[in-house]
Amino acid sequence: MPVLPFTTFCRSATGCRQAGASRLPEIAALPRLRREDLAAVLHYHDCQADDARLVLAVLLDARARGADILNRRAVTAIEPLANGYAIELDERGAKRRVDARFIVNAAGPFVAGVDAMSSIAPPPRPLRLIRGSHIVLRMPEPVEADAYTLQDKEDRVIFVLPWLDRRFLIVGTTEAPEQGDPGAAACSAEEQAYLLDAYNRYFAPGSGPATAADVVWSFAGVRALQDHGDRKPSRLTRRPALAGIANGSGGFVTLYGGKLTTHRAFAEEVLDELRDLGAYMGGPWTKDVPLYGGGEISRQRFSPSSPKARQPSPARPATAGLSPTETRSRGFMRSCCSNRTSPKRSPPASRAPS
Ligand SMILES: Cc1cc2nc3c(=O)[nH]c(=O)nc-3n(C[C@H](O)[C@H](O)[C@H](O)COP(=O)(O)OP(=O)(O)OC[C@H]3O[C@@H](n4cnc5c(N)ncnc54)[C@H](O)[C@@H]3O)c2cc1C
Repeated sequence: MPVLPFTTFCRSATGCRQAGASRLPEIAALPRLRREDLAAVLHYHDCQADDARLVLAVLLDARARGADILNRRAVTAIEPLANGYAIELDERGAKRRVDARFIVNAAGPFVAGVDAMSSIAPPPRPLRLIRGSHIVLRMPEPVEADAYTLQDKEDRVIFVLPWLDRRFLIVGTTEAPEQGDPGAAACSAEEQAYLLDAYNRYFAPGSGPATAADVVWSFAGVRALQDHGDRKPSRLTRRPALAGIANGSGGFVTLYGGKLTTHRAFAEEVLDELRDLGAYMGGPWTKDVPLYGGGEISRQRFSPSSPKARQPSPARPATAGLSPTETRSRGFMRSCCSNRTSPKRSPPASRAPS
């Protein structure tokens, strides 16, 4: 989780009269930036997480604490029992039944479909599926550690983030309604053009404006946001919600939306809901416990009083300086993939924050 210097632009000096605003001499130090109409930049620091590695850290933690992690199994049917549920899993074509008193449906954009499998599930709520797309460009010269937030013509913010050891730049995201299968979502040609346009409005790399030929890969993610009727996706709340229903001495809890940044706090709310439904639960414990593999390293590095927390990490080679989490995650990924016959290498698909 590197600490990133963030830069936000101001087109008018009056809009930028606040703490942290840098004036023109500092703008000159940002070599790729277009200078026209630029009055000031805001410079601040924030953290960046690799979402795939964060998920791995959570899974490894859960496994170390006794959870069964069943990857690549789909829930295909849910039948209510007197005190809980019988769940049918598809394990690469083979069916397996698991009985459980409680179900937590955290299927993201697929949440409504999983709820619909059971006659005893929380009542459906209006949801809107919103696709966020990203394009990935090669990092132009000179390589920069800064992340940028760009204001588009509407009220959307677009991030330009260094990615994968500063070898690439992620430019994203868009917000478009997703009508099809969320599992097949992809960045459309229109979204790619929109992101390139936003990028070229702010940046003028020596190699000229970025074009479709410069897009190394693109990807999209879909989230289910609670639909409270606003037409603009950017105005829909990102605040997660949950609902539960009892079934005998068991129950069913469904999660709507979520944020990676608040996943632990939200998980504790889910446990509260399960406790209310009659599950035996210990108390909350995650607040002061580092992520799996983090330990003292993350305490020292991210403590607000630590000077290191405010320093961008120096450039490093792709495999050097891995934190214990990263090292263990890599080991985990290797063991997951070791029975594949042809390890086809493709650029990693991941999501950027927004
Ligand atoms: C474009 C985009 C940008 C985002 N940016 C940020 C950000 O900057 N910061 C932030 O904090 N959050 C961000 N989020 C939100 C964050 O990604 C989500 O909150 C988070 O992924 C939710 O995790 P989840 O595990 O609940 O759901 P998901 O990550 O959606 O995972 C749901 C899982 O359920 C599985 N599933 C579905 N159906 C079944 C079934 N029948 N059986 C078994 N499994 C099933 C799916 O395969 C999937 O793996 C972003 C999301 C998107 C889409």
